[in-house]
Amino acid sequence: MSPIFRMAVLAAVLWSTVVALSLGWSFVQSERQMLQLAEVEAKSNLKRDLAFRRWATGRGGLYARVTDSARPNPFLAHIPDRDVMLPDGGMLTLYNPATMLREIKTEQAELYGTLARITGEKYLNPINAPDEWEKKALAIIKQTGQDYSEVTRIDGKPYLRRIQPMMMEEGCMKCHAWSGIKVGEMRGATDIAIPLSPYGSVAAQSRIVLGLTHGGIWLLGLVVIGFIARRSATHTDQLSAHQAVLNKFKQAVEQSASGVVITDARGNIEYINRKFCEVNGYAPEEVLGRNPRLLKSGETDDAIYQEMWSALSERKEWRGEFKNRKKSGEVYWCMESISPIIDASGAITHFVAVIEDINDRKFAEATIRQLALYDPLTELPNRRLLREKLDQAFAWSQRAGKRVALLYLDLDRFKAINDTLGHHTGDLLLKAVARRFSGSLRRNDTLARLGGDEFAVVVGDVDTEADAAAVAEKLLEAAGEPFVIEGRDLYVTVSIGISLFPTDTDSLDTLLRNADVAMYHAKECGKNRYQFFGEGLALRVSRQWDIESGLRRVTERNELFVEYQPKMEIGSGRVYGMEALVRWDHPTLGRIAPDRFIPVAEETGDIEQIGEWVLQAACAQAQRWRELGHPLLLSVNLSAVQFRAPDLHDKIDAVLKRTGFPAKALELEITESAIMNNPDQAVETMRAVRALGVSIAIDDFGTGYSSLSQLKRFPVSVLKIDRAFVRDITHDNEDRAIARAVIALAKTMHLSVIAEGVETAQQLALLREMECDCIQGYLLSRPLPPDAFEAFILSAAANQDKTGDCTAPGEAGLASDYVV
Ligand code: C2E
Ligand code: MG
Ligand code: MG
Repeated sequence: MSPIFRMAVLAAVLWSTVVALSLGWSFVQSERQMLQLAEVEAKSNLKRDLAFRRWATGRGGLYARVTDSARPNPFLAHIPDRDVMLPDGGMLTLYNPATMLREIKTEQAELYGTLARITGEKYLNPINAPDEWEKKALAIIKQTGQDYSEVTRIDGKPYLRRIQPMMMEEGCMKCHAWSGIKVGEMRGATDIAIPLSPYGSVAAQSRIVLGLTHGGIWLLGLVVIGFIARRSATHTDQLSAHQAVLNKFKQAVEQSASGVVITDARGNIEYINRKFCEVNGYAPEEVLGRNPRLLKSGETDDAIYQEMWSALSERKEWRGEFKNRKKSGEVYWCMESISPIIDASGAITHFVAVIEDINDRKFAEATIRQLALYDPLTELPNRRLLREKLDQAFAWSQRAGKRVALLYLDLDRFKAINDTLGHHTGDLLLKAVARRFSGSLRRNDTLARLGGDEFAVVVGDVDTEADAAAVAEKLLEAAGEPFVIEGRDLYVTVSIGISLFPTDTDSLDTLLRNADVAMYHAKECGKNRYQFFGEGLALRVSRQWDIESGLRRVTERNELFVEYQPKMEIGSGRVYGMEALVRWDHPTLGRIAPDRFIPVAEETGDIEQIGEWVLQAACAQAQRWRELGHPLLLSVNLSAVQFRAPDLHDKIDAVLKRTGFPAKALELEITESAIMNNPDQAVETMRAVRALGVSIAIDDFGTGYSSLSQLKRFPVSVLKIDRAFVRDITHDNEDRAIARAVIALAKTMHLSVIAEGVETAQQLALLREMECDCIQGYLLSRPLPPDAFEAFILSAAANQDKTGDCTAPGEAGLASDYVV
């Protein structure tokens, strides 16, 4: 049972009790009133009797003509003048007051139902003998001397009986002297019985009226109670529904995953939830009543606070990011959403702030930004950020009427360091280089790493080429000092290409490409220098494009051909083999040297089909010469890209099978750097190739940083001393020392050694003296097309036949003098 229902029942019971009591009391009151009225009636009756009796007594009684209804009173027979004869023969008889009164009473009883009597302890007429009640009443009034009244029943009907003492007076003595009662003593009493029935019916009516009015009021009360109970129940239901909703909200706010702060309009904190305490490390009592500025870290821009207050003063919600400070002092990023609470009158009463800790998100964002825009190794901006910086620099320079210089930097010989000393060393070197470059630049210049050993510098605020050149010179100088990496001095130089905005171009992509082209040009011009893009290189750029696009179907269009350069054994003077060198007859650019298109083909991926084509063409050609009786060793260059291809072995095998060329007569030249890229893989590949019977030579030996211990692992048979060492071998002690060391090394490892780029007899003489096995170079012959090469070997064979021996090139003077 709901409390409200219980209260309603209780109220109904109370109400009913009150109404019942009131009804009862009203009944009693009406009863009392009825009795009072009866008393009044009785009193007035008795008073009237008394008055009458006195009057009659005063006159000594009255005489009345004796008639049938007025007979002489036998009880007055003792009075001598009871009867008086009239002259007309009639007779008068005495009516004493008592008799008169009794008769009047009898009349009255008949008329009104009131019973009035005269009684006394002493009486002559037995009719006056007291009844039971009168006896009792006479005794009472005799004692009290007062009237006495009481409600009694007569013949089963209710009556109010009242008795009044009757005193002996002088006038009474005439008739009542016989009783012996003296004047002044109580002679008897008159009494009256007022029937209560008429009053009873009035009282019954009054009770009905009372009952009805009370019933009505009672019912009305019940209805009101019911109504109030119902209203209360509804109200209570609504209240508890509101309470439930409020509780839900309270729980939701309390358990919210975000911190919640409610302040009053002046900013004093009135409420904080659990998360707020958790995040900020404050206990509620440390914060309540205080201003949220206690969270200020001092690291948030003032503009943000201004923006916030201006939004809030316009009663708008504000959302933004702050850096807050925890109790521990730690500063963290948070996202706050602050809303004013406005009351019905439109005034701001509170502010609610929802605070989310976005530190992790900020950190992730920063990490992502770092990853997306910065090079992880050097922590320099990457290519993407470089583009952004360039865009900004363009915009700025346009406004300022200045130029922007883009410097493209590529470390010379870095690949060799990386391949030979390992990526770890390479990485350390790159970091050191990045640091040194950064140190030599102004704060406004942007240094970026584009990947590998390529860097770029954006220099804004450039007026002339000289400004950019000065930056390039500083960088060259910075790179010039050795880098000490893991206790080892490493020397790197850098080639720099420079393009200017808007002088060279106003397009970002073109600027990047121009600088790249200029950098390549710097490399071609001997490295360790800078080169402006200028107009001259524009032509080269378009050529570069022509090369790239022309390479795509170069083999199908039959634009490639192979030239052969003989190789000679120094000791015997015998031309024992030749190197196949590819050339490209470009339809518009004319002949293009392999140095220019092979690296491009390696980048575009066209090298695979080109390499395969060369191998096929050279093997077919060499097989033809074999068949003509010239069983020469054929050397074919293999690009690093080809060397990494997993189907290399199958491809070589297929070519050998197609051409019928014997594997033992084929030698593959692989550059030192291609091997060192992945030595383990290289060993595998070489073993597979060797398994076919094909031998391997390491080309351009000495240009890399091959570790000699590594070299032992490779199943190679020949080392080719790079022509860079041969070129100055006669006058550069260092080069000579290197050549000597390589030869000595080859000997200890039982490898044969060949020097390439031998152009002079002096070089040959020196190599001979150093016990180099073989040579290749212009001294013997330039690379020759097949026909010319065929003629060359024929004449060489004839020459040998003639001399029967081979002579040193210096001595023989002409290549044609050499024998096969
Ligand atoms: P490489 O394998 O070291 O070839 C020797 C280069 O030295 C050839 O240049 C040759 O013409 C040049 N040479 C020979 N004797 C002398 C000399 O006495 N003095 C001077 N200054 N140079 C001499 P080329 O033909 O321009 O080839 C350059 C490079 O292109 C080759 O260097 C080789 O790495 C690459 N290459 C050539 N043909 C092919 C090929 O079919 N496949 C691949 N992957 N690379 C090739
Ligand atoms: Mg070669
Ligand atoms: Mg070479």
